[in-house]
Amino acid sequence: MLNNILIVEDDTFQQKLISKMLSTLTLAKITTASNGQEALSKLDKIAEPELILCDLNMPGMDGVEFLRIIASRNLDSTIVLTSSVSNDVISSVKKMVLACGMPDILSLNKPISKIQLEQVLLQSTEQVRRNKVTEKVLFQPVDDEIITGFDQEQFVVFYQPHINVKTDIVSGAEALIRWQHPKRGVLTPYFFLDQIQQLGLSHQLTLKVINASISACARWHQQGKGFNISVNISPVDLIELDFIDNVIELLKQYQLPAKFLTFEITESDIGPDMAKELEVMCRLRLHGINLSIDDFGTGFSSLSQLISSPFTELKVDQSFVQKMLTDSKSYAAVKASLQLARDLKLKTVVEGVETKAEADAIKALGCDLFQGWLYAPALPENEFLSWSQNHNKKYIDEITKQG
Ligand code: C2E
Ligand code: MG
Ligand code: MG
Repeated sequence: MLNNILIVEDDTFQQKLISKMLSTLTLAKITTASNGQEALSKLDKIAEPELILCDLNMPGMDGVEFLRIIASRNLDSTIVLTSSVSNDVISSVKKMVLACGMPDILSLNKPISKIQLEQVLLQSTEQVRRNKVTEKVLFQPVDDEIITGFDQEQFVVFYQPHINVKTDIVSGAEALIRWQHPKRGVLTPYFFLDQIQQLGLSHQLTLKVINASISACARWHQQGKGFNISVNISPVDLIELDFIDNVIELLKQYQLPAKFLTFEITESDIGPDMAKELEVMCRLRLHGINLSIDDFGTGFSSLSQLISSPFTELKVDQSFVQKMLTDSKSYAAVKASLQLARDLKLKTVVEGVETKAEADAIKALGCDLFQGWLYAPALPENEFLSWSQNHNKKYIDEITKQG
């Protein structure tokens, strides 16, 4: 996914080490510079790098000045500070960069490990996807474009790994819809989901996603990977005639046991009076399909509603996770949600885990599954499989070493 990477680092040993590790992880072209001045002149000659790794202390033009200058160039690159200076200096540089109008930047402490670089590559790849998207802030597809997209199978399912918190191995994935737009690249649901609903194509989309997800999960099972698959649905899908029959038929057709399928329903979509939906939910449970309450904490479902609904899983919303280490109220929300889920004997998933510090804090609170960019973004099926294989291999190697 990445084509160009720039390393700005005065220490030749570090420069070579980072280049070498990166070259085992990506096919991107790697350019190096020993200070800000050299980096600026190389930037004029090469295609815009998607990733820039930048040291701070360098002779000549240092990293701070370099960043201030490139802030004015409106680059879309993911910037990663690679420095051994103290955290308060790093956070001041980050503030300066934000004040210059650049997006938030990442930082890695030296010595940099291959695992850290792998994470940065994944985050940068996601950034590339998102940049393709933000180019389109003003992009509003016309209805015909969406209808053509449907006819031409441009709506595809990506998979974001779920990681077992205790074992650190991949246990499954959440299916997330993407629009592979012929001109605008990969678009996330933000750009089309509401319009699809207005066009009355929601149910058609849901069935498409369920079909693709069940068939993918069945393929993984045939390869010996007992993954689960989670699919987002809205309460209106539930009351569509034949919804359950269609799902059961698909499970039968692809020979996937129902217990490997979870439907996620967003809490804020759950209304106060859901008798019909509840009936369908109960029947889904009777067939062995799991039900997850998504974005927990963003809606207003009452405790009694939660207790009386047949949910098997609770997903803590990412908005709390992303603030939990800086805002005590968000931390309390994550902690209380996890405690409530445990008391109700629900499986717990925390989504939107972006940093190791967040993962450690959540692990300490107790949780079953992680989902987030710290591990991987939503990926096309083949990339999801190779990512999972690599990730699980690391775990097996670790166990073998210990054994
Ligand atoms: P969701 O079900 O809560 O899915 C999680 C969202 O968080 C996804 O956004 C995912 O890409 C994003 N995410 C995952 N990890 C991180 C992270 O570490 N940091 C941040 N900032 N974000 C992270 P996405 O794919 O844009 O989907 C947005 C929403 O659209 C989903 O929220 C879901 O409600 C809806 N959606 C996605 N696919 C489908 C679908 O097939 N059918 C329906 N009905 N809704 C869908
Ligand atoms: Mg979801
Ligand atoms: Mg969610």
